[in-house]
Amino acid sequence: MKRTSARLADGREIIYFDALDSAPDRRIEDTRDLGPVSTASEIRYDAALDEWVAIASHRQGRTHLPPTDECPLCPSRGDHRTEVPADDYDVVVFENRFPSFSSGAVPLDPAPVQHELFARRPGVGRCEVVCFTSDHDSPISTLPPEHVRLVVEAWVDRTCELSLLPHVEQVFCFENRGEEIGVTLGHPHGQIYAYPFVTPRTRRMLDSARLHRERTWRNLFADLLAAELADGSRIVATSEHWVAFVPAAARWPVEVHVYPRRQVPDLPALHEAERDDFARIYLEVLGAMDNLYGLPLPYISAWHQAPVRIDRELAYLHLEVFSVKRAANKLKYLAGSESGMGVFINDVTPEQAAQALRAAAKPA
Ligand SMILES: [Zn+2]
Repeated sequence: MKRTSARLADGREIIYFDALDSAPDRRIEDTRDLGPVSTASEIRYDAALDEWVAIASHRQGRTHLPPTDECPLCPSRGDHRTEVPADDYDVVVFENRFPSFSSGAVPLDPAPVQHELFARRPGVGRCEVVCFTSDHDSPISTLPPEHVRLVVEAWVDRTCELSLLPHVEQVFCFENRGEEIGVTLGHPHGQIYAYPFVTPRTRRMLDSARLHRERTWRNLFADLLAAELADGSRIVATSEHWVAFVPAAARWPVEVHVYPRRQVPDLPALHEAERDDFARIYLEVLGAMDNLYGLPLPYISAWHQAPVRIDRELAYLHLEVFSVKRAANKLKYLAGSESGMGVFINDVTPEQAAQALRAAAKPA
């Protein structure tokens, strides 16, 4: 693998990950005339829920579903200058031009906070875009395992680097796929958020893990994985180093969690064989999801990594992939119970979902 870092016309960083060590040196020149990046964003404290909310109003103006020949994530060719000033690439990562978090974040409102219950801070952190491939029409589920492995390498690299930034407390690698999920660009890509706080969901999971350890002296997630393996009814796929299963209390009609068999805090802690093996099991899981209704499935794929500074020994790296699609032509909406109260109602039993995915994983 060969890594090349450079700057775009407006100063944002771009990093190329080329599969071959022997790839020719990249000469990068972004000739676009870009205005400065908008970095006005802040986080506001919700005292009722003890959570931070990010407010970044400039995101309203971001590019929304452009036609393919105007895709900003395709390579730059001819007169079409894109976010990637190169005529081809394998995997490329760059800072988002419409970031919710950025290293130079400035507050939306420079006035001092008027009341202690209205705490707010600049949205310091970083948001990056990961282009999985230069081919606009090849979603990650169709890429060869060696290429998915290169994407893993990019996630590892970014997790290491972003963890070193001051103020960053958690690095979140994820992919939103499909217009049903609200994706604004059709090109195969994911994102990385480096948050200036530990996210509420992670905090809650770690609190559960802490209680479990106090009661049992064991790791909660390792016990969950062992229990799923012993039960077997919700296992979707297994490999030498990974296990994919539908969790017993799945919230979504399609939901698969992918755990390494060994407890590690984050992606950089995976060894080579585990990284290779992940590419294979992930393609198997995504293939099963696409076969389920015979249509590319809209999904969210979310890496759960340990926070940068705290509770790393309680955390257990894993991936959660889930979809809003409950039948070929039906979407699950987050309605009253889910959005109002945080109580999910799932119309599909997790055991049925696992069985359907196992069947879909096998080519017809
Ligand atoms: Zn494209």
